[in-house]
Amino acid sequence: MPEAILELDRLDVSYEGVPAVRDLNIRIDRGEIVGLIGPNGAGKSTTLHAIMGIVRAAGGDIRLSGRSIRGRAPEQIARAGIALVPEGRRIYPNMTVDENLKLGLAASRRRGDRGKLMASLHELFPILGRYGKRLGGVLSGGEQQQLAIARALAAEPDVILLDEPSLGLAPTVVEAVFERLGEIRERGVTTLLVEQRAQRTVAMADRTYALANGELRATFGPKDASDTDRLVAAYFG
Ligand code: ATP
Repeated sequence: MPEAILELDRLDVSYEGVPAVRDLNIRIDRGEIVGLIGPNGAGKSTTLHAIMGIVRAAGGDIRLSGRSIRGRAPEQIARAGIALVPEGRRIYPNMTVDENLKLGLAASRRRGDRGKLMASLHELFPILGRYGKRLGGVLSGGEQQQLAIARALAAEPDVILLDEPSLGLAPTVVEAVFERLGEIRERGVTTLLVEQRAQRTVAMADRTYALANGELRATFGPKDASDTDRLVAAYFG
């Protein structure tokens, strides 16, 4: 069996006593792309925030390469090798693309060659190389999303958590962003992807978990992408 890089073991998260995630078991192996889908309020963002240590787990455990990270501070979790790209593409609009990326590089966990790392990010997202001197705020939504992902990758994480990268993007732009996920995997990075675009996510991910009301409702494989009935049932059943 391959090594589980990230495991949620009976995870519970509440906001002031109101459960948002309940008894959630998820296993992600190294190099996988795993999707997390479900209707608004299902608990998807909460799951990512709990992994990152932004919200506290009320019960259960979160393990990175077999070691519990539950209760650790977000910066410790970042140092341990997890990066979050939050919903809404929070880049620095008044800094250039290069400066945004350099901030990411400053968070890098390894003392490697920064120039080389920058070049590899430009290779992954060529537009960022071309627009290096532009302010982040003038980029299109899709370009900003690429910048947000590149900045997270600059820290050289083992696992990247993406919170609705396609939000507000045109379909062709969504494709451009999704296509990069395969390349990110080739670089050895594991992805947990929260998405509203259920069918597209199921088709692309190695495995997709559907949440509803904070609970695991169904697990899908790529072949299930055409099974619209099952997908709809996971949302509304
Ligand atoms: P969306 O697609 O709308 O982002 P989601 O699946 O990511 O949905 P969460 O944002 O994780 O869902 O929300 C799960 C539940 O927790 C919802 O009922 C939401 O209202 C509640 N919730 C989320 N954040 C907070 C918070 N900071 N304080 C209190 N309740 C919260």
